[in-house]
Amino acid sequence: MQNDIQEVLISEEEIQSKVKELGATLSAEYEGRNPLVICVLKGAFIFMADLVKNITVPVEMDFMAVSSYGASTKSSGVVKIIKDLDVSVEGREVLIVEDIIDSGLTLSYLIDLLENRGSKSVRVVTLFDKPSGRKVELEAHYTGFDIPDAFIVGYGLDYAEQYRNLPYIGILKPEVYTS
Ligand code: 5GP
Ligand code: MG
Ligand code: MG
Repeated sequence: MQNDIQEVLISEEEIQSKVKELGATLSAEYEGRNPLVICVLKGAFIFMADLVKNITVPVEMDFMAVSSYGASTKSSGVVKIIKDLDVSVEGREVLIVEDIIDSGLTLSYLIDLLENRGSKSVRVVTLFDKPSGRKVELEAHYTGFDIPDAFIVGYGLDYAEQYRNLPYIGILKPEVYTS
């Protein structure tokens, strides 16, 4: 698996310290409140797990699975709900936890959906952002790292369901896509 990685873009240590920082920021922002924290599966599951350990206010958690990519590395623009929330968002302060924003299509769909379901507020924390990939105007409220226009894997992010368990962020060798 390590042999498929061309370059480590962000180390495990850098990620962990950023996640702590985001947790501290969110703890201050949501002081005295009880947000519903929604993990967008599958990519955000590791970030979610590490992030909530660094949030000191009481939170409720739920999980949603959406699909927009299949086994390709570019967004199709079609968002499919694979698993919906178990709880109602009505009147809730919602925090969406995303792994990465590229085109923004997935997230803008999700934000609209949760607003239409009557949530009180919808905010977004994303660990990674590729601003150059945007197809719709959208910005996360809290962002970990801006990254260049490259396809990254690790720390929850996959290529064809592989590499999610890498503790760092890497860039794949081009031959991995073509072989
Ligand atoms: P968007 O709809 O913003 O184009 O992309 C949404 C989803 O596509 C992300 O949540 C993520 O699951 C996937 N994605 C976008 N860029 C990358 C990338 O560089 N690497 C991986 N592994 N997935 C990505
Ligand atoms: Mg995602
Ligand atoms: Mg994926």
